Amino acid sequence: MTRRAAVIGAGLAGLACARVLRRAGLYVEVFEQDRIIGGRMATTRLGLESFDHGSQYLTARSTQFKTYITELTSSGYAARWKPRSSTGEEGGGQMMPWYVGTPGMSSIVRPLAESVRIHAGHKVHTIVRSEKGWDVWMDDETSIGPFAAIAIAVPAPQAQLLLGRLDSLADPLSRVRMSPCWALMVKLEERTLPDQDVFSDMSEVVRWIARNSTKPGRNSRGECVLVHASPAWSRETEEADPEVVAEELWAEVSHVLALPPVRPSRMVAHLWRHGLVDSSLGESYLYSSEHRVGVAGDWCLGRLAEHAFDSGTSLGRAIVASLV
Ligand SMILES: Cc1cc2nc3c(=O)[nH]c(=O)nc-3n(C[C@H](O)[C@H](O)[C@H](O)COP(=O)(O)OP(=O)(O)OC[C@H]3O[C@@H](n4cnc5c(N)ncnc54)[C@H](O)[C@@H]3O)c2cc1C
Repeated sequence: MTRRAAVIGAGLAGLACARVLRRAGLYVEVFEQDRIIGGRMATTRLGLESFDHGSQYLTARSTQFKTYITELTSSGYAARWKPRSSTGEEGGGQMMPWYVGTPGMSSIVRPLAESVRIHAGHKVHTIVRSEKGWDVWMDDETSIGPFAAIAIAVPAPQAQLLLGRLDSLADPLSRVRMSPCWALMVKLEERTLPDQDVFSDMSEVVRWIARNSTKPGRNSRGECVLVHASPAWSRETEEADPEVVAEELWAEVSHVLALPPVRPSRMVAHLWRHGLVDSSLGESYLYSSEHRVGVAGDWCLGRLAEHAFDSGTSLGRAIVASLV
């Protein structure tokens, strides 16, 4: 039996799974369709400025995620963020501490990617079983394998496509519901927002506004603002032109915050098509020891980064247990 395992998806769930597999002595290869790793734990550049356009901050309830956050903060990959609330108080309104990746949210996955082989820019089209194990076929009709086991750590609708006729794994995923979410990145040359760092549930259109530049480890001149649209509005405008979405969202932000008529120097809208989980699977992962294929992701347990980490870690352990 080959000691190679494949992970599809280099988000937090896939890379948490990869780390468990690697620590158990397996040779791990991760396939990621994007050119960068992190998935929704994302940081992108607009000119000289960086924006966390996916996940905004982390909270930790489970012991294993708390332990991982401690590892991140002690190695400089994350820090506590205490944004000023409407009362002007730092960290006001936080039920539990908020952490952010430094210098960007994508740093959160960096330690997990050590010593695993990452095939970035490789979209997996299908997985095919042969006598020797599983082969992973890419969109460009090349394949890599064989692998003893496969972890699929992508959003549920995409996982269903990859699972094909593995009905025992694919069928339960129909229970999962995920919503799109528009993210708007705005660069302003001067400080323009009211004296507060985060604003939530501002209207039926805007769910979240954050001064990205107030997170620790960010250097920026002027103001970098990150906006998330509400799930309902994002669903209605899912097929709209990103430039039109950017204009409409900025008009709404200007209106709800009563801003002076300022034109951003840059603004870009990005759609997270499977952004937020509406209904989860209710199990931390699914794994078939007969087929040696499993699925993981935030959508298994909830809608937070912590759920993705716990799901990927649990799937990794199940795969290791099945291979001994
Ligand atoms: C707008 C937004 C705001 C959020 N805010 C927060 C927050 O503040 N706090 C919090 O805890 N959580 C937040 N979340 C949720 C958090 O980002 C997710 O729970 C977590 O990042 C999910 O990780 P994952 O590994 O399950 O999935 P993903 O991060 O989606 O990773 C899946 C990966 O698989 C890749 N992939 C998909 N299909 C294929 C294929 N066929 N072949 C190869 N690769 C493929 C994708 O490119 C992606 O990199 C937010 C999410 C969004 C979208």
